[in-house]
Amino acid sequence: MQRTEISTLGEFGLIKHLTQSFELKNSSSLKGIGDDAAILDYKEKQVLVTTDLLLEGVHFDLTYVPLKHLGYKSAVVNISDICAMNGKPKQITVSLGVSKRFSVEDMEELYAGIRLACDHYGVDLVGGDTSASMTGLTISITCIGEGEKGKVVCRNTAQPNDLICVSGDLGAAYMGLLLLEREKKIFAGDNSIQPDFAGKEYIIERQLKPEARQDIIESLERINVVPTAMMDISDGLSSELLHICKQSNVGCRVYEDRIPIDYQTAVMAEEFNMNVTTVALNGGEDYELLFTVPLSMNDVFQNLPGIKVIGHTTDASLGSCLITRDGQEITLKAQGWNSLEK
Ligand code: ADP
Ligand code: MG
Repeated sequence: MQRTEISTLGEFGLIKHLTQSFELKNSSSLKGIGDDAAILDYKEKQVLVTTDLLLEGVHFDLTYVPLKHLGYKSAVVNISDICAMNGKPKQITVSLGVSKRFSVEDMEELYAGIRLACDHYGVDLVGGDTSASMTGLTISITCIGEGEKGKVVCRNTAQPNDLICVSGDLGAAYMGLLLLEREKKIFAGDNSIQPDFAGKEYIIERQLKPEARQDIIESLERINVVPTAMMDISDGLSSELLHICKQSNVGCRVYEDRIPIDYQTAVMAEEFNMNVTTVALNGGEDYELLFTVPLSMNDVFQNLPGIKVIGHTTDASLGSCLITRDGQEITLKAQGWNSLEK
């Protein structure tokens, strides 16, 4: 494959090369790349801003993550945060630290992924910053979005006796990560052998190409429901539930048999000798939505495609518990997914 050194284009040349094909599509993007700052116009809307920092070796491993996927995922995790506020993502900025190891072609791949995310979610790239780096690749993406006054949803506003809902299924991205890590070890040093992911495509995709649940936000809008509290599940259901409970000053009861788990996640957990409920509770990077709605909406939410009612909030004094299949109450712990790696 061709390799063009970034130094042949220089910083300005590289930025132009990577960004010239991006066009602005949102009316709130008045001016994008090319000046000292972008200009946005949100009129009467509220402005939501979120940012993430991703470091090579800490947050991603380029031995099994293709740069195009990395670009897509870096944008999606920020877009997901705007969705989790019941907002609409509109703009991103992309800041890069790039070492000499990377070529112009590498950066083209990264931006192809970013571009795919921009097109898929209707987001404009309006700026960024670029710097040489001594240590691999660093990506920081900021996403800006709009929220309607009175309809932005925070974590601290759940009420006792709300229903607790989640979208999609949980634990798959973590199983995908463990599978990729395992294959990396097995095949290290022997490039002639290709890992076989047959029958495991879903969990790999959940790890490498997650999606933000903008579709769920749109479904909620269609049925005119504003959740009482909401967040996206990036660090595991258990930890996120505890955030909502603590910040809202409520307790919760969630039922093990209601936690949505895909078949491939269950098979993989068994292969790794892990309890699949533990995986679903503590695995990270699912980017599904966790939200609460009033109990009076039970009939509606029991039948919404892609959404599962997993339990309810309680008075804070009752604590936060998982009810197991055999009826035991287990206090939820914020394990987070990092601690699972031991
Ligand atoms: P400044 O000197 O003001 O930091 P730059 O030369 O870094 O400006 O950037 C010029 C323009 O290109 C700005 O609009 C900036 O937002 C944009 N830009 C810089 N780096 C990137 C990047 N990695 N991705 C997208 N836009 C970028
Ligand atoms: Mg700059």
